[in-house]
Amino acid sequence: MPAAISAEVLAKYEPVIGLEVHVQLLTATKAFCGCANRFGAEPNTNVCPVCLGLPGALPVLNEKAVEFATIASLALNCQVRERSIFARKNYFYPDLPKGYQISQFDKPLAEHGWIEVPTADGGRRRIGITRLHMEEDAGKSLHDGLPDSAAHTSLDLNRCGTPLAEIVSEPELRTPDEAYEYLTRMREILLYAGVSDCNMEEGSLRCDVNVSVRLRGAERLGTKVEVKNVNSFKFVRAALEYEIERQIEVIEAGGSIVQQTRLWNADEQRTDSMRSKEQAHDYRYFPDPDLPPLIVSAEFLSAARKKLPELPEARRARMIAEYDLSAQDAKTLTVSREFADRFEAAAGTARNPRRVAGVLLNEVGGRLKALGIELEQSPVSMAGIVLAADLLDEGKISSKQMKQLFDLCFEKAEDFGVVYEREKPEQITDAAAIEKLIDEVIAANPKQVEQYRAGKKTMAGFFVGQAMRASKGQANPALLNELVTKKLEG
Ligand code: ADP
Ligand code: ZN
Ligand code: MG
Repeated sequence: MPAAISAEVLAKYEPVIGLEVHVQLLTATKAFCGCANRFGAEPNTNVCPVCLGLPGALPVLNEKAVEFATIASLALNCQVRERSIFARKNYFYPDLPKGYQISQFDKPLAEHGWIEVPTADGGRRRIGITRLHMEEDAGKSLHDGLPDSAAHTSLDLNRCGTPLAEIVSEPELRTPDEAYEYLTRMREILLYAGVSDCNMEEGSLRCDVNVSVRLRGAERLGTKVEVKNVNSFKFVRAALEYEIERQIEVIEAGGSIVQQTRLWNADEQRTDSMRSKEQAHDYRYFPDPDLPPLIVSAEFLSAARKKLPELPEARRARMIAEYDLSAQDAKTLTVSREFADRFEAAAGTARNPRRVAGVLLNEVGGRLKALGIELEQSPVSMAGIVLAADLLDEGKISSKQMKQLFDLCFEKAEDFGVVYEREKPEQITDAAAIEKLIDEVIAANPKQVEQYRAGKKTMAGFFVGQAMRASKGQANPALLNELVTKKLEG
């Protein structure tokens, strides 16, 4: 770690951050050949002359990859160019058998997008997206895990030619937290859009971090450092925190920042120098003579737009309004498109969607979380959740009884309907019996009665709770509520 820098010194500087995100597109086949695009196959089984770059083999663009990249562009509020150009980015590396990567350079597929991130003060800020371009992935060098790893590096070229979208942000992020939020939002949007599985462990979402610092108020950007190999969003935040302090320390000591590429070292939680940064001209970009310009027609664009689903932010806002949900519940329910779909399908059949959300998240979600299992493995079906919510809403069971029934569901691995039919919890609907319970509670708690009568109306909840407990959770909730108010007012 850099030596601790005082808060005052840190505050003199403003960090400037830009992110480059690569996502693998979820096509069945690769970008320019018919090989399967699949993670985890036997090494070097999904390869052909095109993706190996054998002489004479010609690339043919996968239309589905263009469709996914276009959908991603629209989801990120980008303008899609009608005409974009594939270019060769030339460099030598063992995992790149062609000696160049097909990418896009000065005419990318899409530009001028943005993502909104929440700010520390509860507002929102738009972060510009410079461009989204299409390119192909390289293969993978395997340095360990194989029998002869001590002596050799092996190559797995299955990943060569996998379609990627590279999404480059403007240098507009200002804090490690903002960078974290930007990535979280982007991942969520791309997952909703269905264009990538964004699985960081499998490398289908990768992020390079660019960061510089400048004195607050300065116009000119400082010299940036690029950090690679940051394979989780938490590491992005940690790498930025480290790198910002390191740069400030260098500058404070009278030194200057060298433009370079550094590697995130997760074991040591620091960045290490890797190489000096190459410049664009080092890659000798030129238009790929084997690929014609990519034309995105108006029809293609509108078809892509039609495939764009409702995106997370919009969906949350709509669900809050439509089902009267809290912001927190809406956030949890929209954690994935599938989960939100399941909730909405169920909520549509229930008396009170807000109650379905409560039962799903608190009763079922809480128990699943405690057991460490997914909704798919839940003994309680969505229909069971709706039944519980309806019974609760109609006052046919108390919330205490519902909890007991859910306990049984999880103990016996049975659905809510089954347990409810068997147990049919008793309910006291006899007003006289309930009044008697309330009278006892009132007699035992004179102080609370006084508070209520002095105007603290929320005390009613206390009496309902006590009387419900005295009834062993069996009092009809609606009747109990009504009688408590009557007694206290009387
Ligand atoms: P390069 O040519 O080195 O790849 P780019 O201009 O393409 O640089 O920018 C790459 C990324 O670095 C972008 O996300 C951009 O926002 C960011 N970036 C550019 N300049 C700076 C800077 N001075 N400080 C921090 N980030 C920067
Ligand atoms: Zn191939
Ligand atoms: Mg660049």
